[in-house]
Amino acid sequence: MLNINISPYQYENSTRIIFGVGTLNEVTNVVPWKNILIVTTSGTTKRGTTNQLTSLLPNKNITVYDIVDPEPQIVDLEQAANQFEKQHFDCVIGLGGGSTIDTAKILSCLLSETTFHLRSHLTKNETLPELQPIPVIAIPTTAGTGAEVTPFATVWDRPSGKKHSFATSLLNPNVAILDPALSLSVSRDVTLTTGLDAFCQGLESLWSRQRNPVATAFANQSVPLALSTLPKLLNDLKNQDLRSRMLQSSLFAGLAISSTRTTLSHSISYPLTLRFGVPHGLACAFTIVPVLQFNASRDPDRLQWLVEPIGFNSHETLGDTIKNILAISNTYSNLNNLIGSKEAVIALASEALTPARADNNFTNASLEDVEHILSESWDQMTASLS
Ligand SMILES: [Zn+2]
Repeated sequence: MLNINISPYQYENSTRIIFGVGTLNEVTNVVPWKNILIVTTSGTTKRGTTNQLTSLLPNKNITVYDIVDPEPQIVDLEQAANQFEKQHFDCVIGLGGGSTIDTAKILSCLLSETTFHLRSHLTKNETLPELQPIPVIAIPTTAGTGAEVTPFATVWDRPSGKKHSFATSLLNPNVAILDPALSLSVSRDVTLTTGLDAFCQGLESLWSRQRNPVATAFANQSVPLALSTLPKLLNDLKNQDLRSRMLQSSLFAGLAISSTRTTLSHSISYPLTLRFGVPHGLACAFTIVPVLQFNASRDPDRLQWLVEPIGFNSHETLGDTIKNILAISNTYSNLNNLIGSKEAVIALASEALTPARADNNFTNASLEDVEHILSESWDQMTASLS
């Protein structure tokens, strides 16, 4: 048995968590303020969920911003900040998936009293001023990103082909309301992509350089819960109990990565999303087994030590379980439709090695290693489809 000492660590998460079917009603008790900005998507409004929320907040001045992009763009966030510059909000509610909650978190900073230039901070490393963000209530309607409990937000810049990570403890929402009933109407495609993100995040947290015992305790519960729940849920989308389990898994993965961050599969996912439009969870899942195998080849004892608490006797059995889920859920065929060719995907290797994510993998990966991981990912996908 590998003896891994517990190094000094810190763990902080300031978000109050309210979980359970029907807990959307709690919004009445956690929003004492008058002027509310609700950030959401047009789809959420069309499904009636925005109305469901506003009906719980009578006698408030509510503004609804429901044009969130699935990949929030710097330019859109700047426009929204200009649009609402003259309005005073006491609270921002993010109602939706990870992109929506990220947008709410960023707007809570941009609409605070202090002037703050997002673009300069993200592209020129300009120091963040002393900010007092507007309080944020995060209400996820999908199960996967964990954005309701993390201090980061992903921001995209299509014109320059870049993805940025905005990270500061100021982004931790004040309250997360996780009501599994809200995810009952989520489509199979979104259930799949977000569910894949949940178990990739849980696994990556385990092999992060910033791994710590608190995050590990969350990840050790999150990963098996996602692996056992997702295949059943995809065949039974209206099952409230399975929706609850998936949301619980997603929350635990979020609580894990909030301190460890993600690693290599996330690093490689961003150019796949930018170049081929691969949805985030699918893009992470594309390389998750080859990254597992790469890590095992570098440090087999450590991998064995990692996989046992999540219920697997070897990294091979874990890899086979994941590959089976990717095959039966049509993940491989979805990926095959989106990604052009083996050559095109291997050509992304240099863009895929983003320092903050790739350097966070417990074993170093070179450009050749990433090329090998991409090649292996392609081969595993095509082998499954043949
Ligand atoms: Zn993710």
